Amino acid sequence: MDAQLGDRAVELLTALLKIDTTNPPGRERPAAELLARHLASAGVEPSVLESAPGRANVVARLKGTGERPPLLLTAHLDVVPADPSRWTHPPFAAEVHDGYLWGRGAIDMKNFAAMAVAVVERLAREKTPLRRDVIFAGVADEEAGCDYGSRWLVDQHPELVRAECALGEVGGFSLHLFGRTFYPIQVAQKGILWMKATARAEPGHGSMPDPRSAVAELSRAIARLSDEPLPWHRSEPTVRFLKALAAHLPAPVAALLPRLADPRVGRFLLRHAVRDPLQQRQFTALLSNTVSPTVLRAGSKINVIPGEATVELDGRTLPGSGPAELLRELRARLGPLVDVELLRSDDPVTSDPGHPLFAHLSRTITAHDPTGVPVPYIIPGFTDALAFAKLGTQFYGFAPVRFDPAHKIAFGRLYHGNDERIPVDGLRWGTTVLHDAVKGWCQ
Ligand SMILES: [Zn+2]
Repeated sequence: MDAQLGDRAVELLTALLKIDTTNPPGRERPAAELLARHLASAGVEPSVLESAPGRANVVARLKGTGERPPLLLTAHLDVVPADPSRWTHPPFAAEVHDGYLWGRGAIDMKNFAAMAVAVVERLAREKTPLRRDVIFAGVADEEAGCDYGSRWLVDQHPELVRAECALGEVGGFSLHLFGRTFYPIQVAQKGILWMKATARAEPGHGSMPDPRSAVAELSRAIARLSDEPLPWHRSEPTVRFLKALAAHLPAPVAALLPRLADPRVGRFLLRHAVRDPLQQRQFTALLSNTVSPTVLRAGSKINVIPGEATVELDGRTLPGSGPAELLRELRARLGPLVDVELLRSDDPVTSDPGHPLFAHLSRTITAHDPTGVPVPYIIPGFTDALAFAKLGTQFYGFAPVRFDPAHKIAFGRLYHGNDERIPVDGLRWGTTVLHDAVKGWCQ
């Protein structure tokens, strides 16, 4: 492990965590400027580009010979809100306790911004001869849908960020299952279909309840949607992920995992073989299109039965499925009395697990952890990949961090959770892995 490089990532992350970039409102400018200053002093000229007042993106390019196409390293600089009263240590103080650096963004994903800038600085200072340009993009607004960050960059300055391949969130972390250590490398993410559903009926007086009111109809529709997952799909990236895990797990689990994707028995198996409700939800999200009811609105006066009730619906589509199919599945649940309006849609993003970069990332991981098993991974959420994919970029979720299995920290709960933190040693380790991966790929 390269101690100096690791220290540098810890230093940069500490500084970034102390800058509150909670989105909304974002205000990523100070974080973008901090990274820009460090990149400039390493001789990599940065551009700080504002998409709106205070909403800054930083892009810098370490030039190679151009014999081969560029590699993009990308991290969003905004974070989701943190309620200090629910944290063990303050979320914007970057304190170290028990070997962990605490703070909102420690995992999602200022860690990768710090690691990537440390790597770019190092390659620049060492004057490593590169055949590919290495581009760093620290972007705004991922947590609110990417409009002021990656989407804006891709629309307004595509020439700055166009690359053959990109590395970013989510993946590369150690995942401990049944005594084995896996390193999921993300090659797929679900698409987005945001919608608004509305029920309409006669308004009336609150003294005379109406079982067919808009509120009642919408409530029943939401209950139907929530009681039963949408139909199962055998999505290729999910099947690949489950098979890759199964190949290294003990017999009973190995036999079970790939069968979860079988539309005939998968749901039954999941219900009976996986007991943890969170795990059930995680698997369900990889095995079906999903729709979460989120924002409910109806009525404005306590004694008036409103004539309209609406719910905003966060829909997610699997690779291989799409908006039309999800809409069909959703309408079957909601019934004929509820209208559905589309608000926003983005396709699922998939990258080629057969690309030489995937094999290179896998080799780099196992060189640093010979017991680790890299696996191609799909996430139910979205990332900036959905914007960069529009430029034809193959996106891999690869922000390596090693967790100590003895600490039993559920990685998934750190994302947007209270007490977000990163193991300092795991961050150092990951920075060395990232360095070797980037250098090996680009030189
Ligand atoms: Zn993130």
